[in-house]
Amino acid sequence: MRLSKEALKELKELLSERLLTREEELFLYAFDASSLFFLPEAVALPERKEEVLEILRLAEIFEFPVISRGCGTSTTGSPLAVEGGLVVAFTRMNRILELNLEERTVRVEPGVINGDLKVYLKRYGLFYPPDPASYAFSSIGGNVATGAGGPRGLKYGTTKDYVLSLEVALPGGKILKTGPQTLKGVVPYNLTPLFVGSEGTLGLFLEILLKVLPLPEKRKLYLVFIPKEEKAFFLITESLKKGLTPASAEFVDKTTLKALEEKIKFLESEQASLEALLFVEFDGKKEEVLKDGKLFEDLLKVVGSKYYSAESEEEIERLWEIRRAISPSLKKLASKKMADDIVLPRRALSEFIKFLRKLESDSGIFICAFGHAGDGNLHVNLLYEEDKIETAKHLREQILKKVLELCGTISGEHGVGYTKRPYVLWELDPLQIEIMKKIKKIFDPKGILNPQIKIPD
Ligand SMILES: Cc1cc2nc3c(=O)[nH]c(=O)nc-3n(C[C@H](O)[C@H](O)[C@H](O)COP(=O)(O)OP(=O)(O)OC[C@H]3O[C@@H](n4cnc5c(N)ncnc54)[C@H](O)[C@@H]3O)c2cc1C
Repeated sequence: MRLSKEALKELKELLSERLLTREEELFLYAFDASSLFFLPEAVALPERKEEVLEILRLAEIFEFPVISRGCGTSTTGSPLAVEGGLVVAFTRMNRILELNLEERTVRVEPGVINGDLKVYLKRYGLFYPPDPASYAFSSIGGNVATGAGGPRGLKYGTTKDYVLSLEVALPGGKILKTGPQTLKGVVPYNLTPLFVGSEGTLGLFLEILLKVLPLPEKRKLYLVFIPKEEKAFFLITESLKKGLTPASAEFVDKTTLKALEEKIKFLESEQASLEALLFVEFDGKKEEVLKDGKLFEDLLKVVGSKYYSAESEEEIERLWEIRRAISPSLKKLASKKMADDIVLPRRALSEFIKFLRKLESDSGIFICAFGHAGDGNLHVNLLYEEDKIETAKHLREQILKKVLELCGTISGEHGVGYTKRPYVLWELDPLQIEIMKKIKKIFDPKGILNPQIKIPD
């Protein structure tokens, strides 16, 4: 027990019924989208930044762990109370504070849902590009803390490219304002990028200033039927070589297609020529999209791939729903899942997929690889039954080793959290780890923010 009676009493006075302590309430904050479960000792639901600052003042005095939480969709255990302590859930700090049309910026509280922000901005002809597949049910605070990406990352980049400045609460109850309020700025040191992807280990976001863009005039989506998995990566690199910049190039491998059977019934007539799928979207000015689409169609003819294309918003969204249905559909293959989100140089994707197929056929465990192949980022999921857990762990380690051998990284956007923490030592050298530990100590000297995640001991 890390939260003392005295600390709980002070927190109760501060938050009243917005401090949850009953076990049945705590259960709701004990899991995320990984298969982990850690029961917190209490949950705080702040509505104002002054409350967050007071929580952090008390945390420093009473030395209890503080675990920040958005919507709990993390796949790595990062918003979980691994060592007990207080979960601070930002769901009630969900106001859009200010839209600045001249600067094309929007200031939000961390609990705003990414999808709600998209709906709000659309009214003004604007959009916020980062689009994790969880955009309808994940928060901007969580997206910033994990450095979230999504299909549009290929053309538009990820969360890191849109966060201009942050207001951050630090242990002890201090407020830190990072980055200039302007679109540019080089007055040293810009601390904003340090917080993007920090997974709640350096401070708690109170306000976030984001850059937004005008909505593209036109979109065109191609659903490409890939006869041989490796051909998908060839298509992506050839498109880029020809000067095309699709907004998205999303890959679905043949094992994932098994889980999607229901959703792709309408492609039955293509089954014979379908080993994998590629979602390729172009957007921008109408003439550009049509011109790029034509070039892409020529390329499809050369490689002999059939396709289905969509231009209306409804049809495009209907097709993207297939892609977004992947994560929940995987449970059809087996009851347990181990998930990673590795990134490789594009040239290595072909070799990597062949390596996975070999592991799959040797082990009898389903290995799904899907996602943002355009920027080299694949979600590799092992699907297995409980009695195969040791085999799955061994396979996972072989896969991560292969990724590093191919000059990749073990996490592109989901973060390290609890599940990938031991493997950080495989990727980073001791000097990097030492510097990162020193940075953590500057912001959080007593180690109370999200302990036991991200940086290994
Ligand atoms: C079906 C599904 C699809 C997904 N697809 C994608 C995808 O395409 N791309 C992608 O990047 N991710 C994806 N994810 C993972 C997940 O949705 C993202 O990591 C997301 O950014 C987490 O947001 P959240 O609000 O759920 O945060 P949580 O899971 O609650 O927390 C995530 C991290 O953010 C920290 N945090 C939360 N709020 C704050 C705050 N105010 N201040 C400081 N730290 C804070 C937490 O401590 C934790 O470390 C997917 C998950 C699911 C379940």
